[in-house]
Amino acid sequence: MSQKVRVRFAPSPTGALHIGGVRTALYNYLFAKKHHGDFILRIEDTDSQRFVPGAEEYIIEALTWLGLQFDEGTHLGGAYAPYRQSDRKDIYKKYVDVLLEKGAAYIAFDTPAELAAKRELVGNFQYDASTRGSMRNSLTLSKEEVKALIDAGDQYVVRFKIDPNQDVLVNDVIRGEVKYNSSVLDDKVLYKSADQLPTYHLANIVDDHLMEISHVIRGEEWLPSSPLHVLLYRAFGWEDTMPLFAHLPLLLKPEGNGKLSKRDGDRLGFPVFPLEWKDPASGEISSGYRESGYLPEAVINFLALLGWNPGNDQEIMTMTELIDLFSLEKCSKSGAKFDYEKGKWFNHQYIQLRPNSEIAKIFYPILEDKGIDVPVEYVETVVGLVKERVSFVKELWGQSSFFFIAPTAYDEKVVKKRWKEESPAQMTELIEVLKGIDDFSAHNQEEIVKGWIESKGYHLGNVMNAFRLALVGESKGPHIFDITAAIGKDEAIARLEKAILNIK
Ligand code: GLU
Repeated sequence: MSQKVRVRFAPSPTGALHIGGVRTALYNYLFAKKHHGDFILRIEDTDSQRFVPGAEEYIIEALTWLGLQFDEGTHLGGAYAPYRQSDRKDIYKKYVDVLLEKGAAYIAFDTPAELAAKRELVGNFQYDASTRGSMRNSLTLSKEEVKALIDAGDQYVVRFKIDPNQDVLVNDVIRGEVKYNSSVLDDKVLYKSADQLPTYHLANIVDDHLMEISHVIRGEEWLPSSPLHVLLYRAFGWEDTMPLFAHLPLLLKPEGNGKLSKRDGDRLGFPVFPLEWKDPASGEISSGYRESGYLPEAVINFLALLGWNPGNDQEIMTMTELIDLFSLEKCSKSGAKFDYEKGKWFNHQYIQLRPNSEIAKIFYPILEDKGIDVPVEYVETVVGLVKERVSFVKELWGQSSFFFIAPTAYDEKVVKKRWKEESPAQMTELIEVLKGIDDFSAHNQEEIVKGWIESKGYHLGNVMNAFRLALVGESKGPHIFDITAAIGKDEAIARLEKAILNIK
């Protein structure tokens, strides 16, 4: 690659960023970092009808949370600023004029009503080489008529004049050569006088050119636009610096048929947005990965493998490893099933990989909410003992509440099965054994308690089950002596006394 790698993530601020968009941003980021290139945020907001306030800020917050750091963008500035298309109106106007001068575009005055009437009359009407001669545009009207209409304030659009029957080759890094015939394309609107804004296609091409974008990595849904984009590059005479395309595979429903939608998330109970989103118009709230308790590195790893893999079975990869291993050539052409259970699995894995101290920090506010006030170090110990049982930090409470509060009730079924006739007497003896232990480490306790059980000829399982019931209130939890070592001698004894008194 001789040219510097410069890629852009170019969302339109039309609402919350969909998880598929996050994956597009991620692949752009990985590719840029791998090639020591630039990762740019460009906001494509030329469609004022679809603009949603707060969407741009949301996109930046979400990608920042995930650790996708931009090099240039609306929020950072940069050598190619401005990066928000609505701030680049004058630039586009200039390039629209270039196309008009070259005869590669023309002005059309057809009103929406006229177009609708035409569509009514002609089945499958398409504004193109076969029909433009019968429409009201600068190709059919005289120069004077055109000028008069513009001077009179008539609204117009500028359309791209597409020559029919040309081969258009789109060279896609993932899909190979995709061949189109230009006749399938209509004379796309490039500019509207009404809001003096270009349409997506023109702004996108002009900006990719001016910002010296080397690779356009985007979702498969943009593949049909790519022949038009190639023709625009041709019309401007920019073919030599045209970016390479890479159209990423679709994210599919978990069942595999059809595109993943927000409704799938609602139906199956998983978020399709990175952060919680409140729709400013309807007030409707949609859940996000962050608020649902996902760690950003788990979301990154999960998404990285939806449409790409390193060519072996490796699944757990840090961002650095992903950057190192990523390549567009290894992206798949076929859609990737959105297996959200796998997302949970990744979260589980990353909870194990994160230091206990960090998980404790996330868990601490949950404890505070429950009125628990304990030293942070204690929470760290507890986290270390139970985290292998959870996929989310919020599940820690259910697995560890007995470390913070003594049982107030005992599970009836467990009592029936585990609390034997001899249990009260054995637990009374056990209290004395525990009292005599100075080094209350799990290891030492275990040795002494087991020695006592053996010397008495008691049934190991029976004693331990009753002991657990007294400590936890049911039959779950980590290793018994890890529990007692954590809660301490006095608390362990107090719980035994309470159990002897209360379990009938
Ligand atoms: N604005 C388009 C979007 O919302 C950008 C497509 C592209 O990357 O060219 O996805």
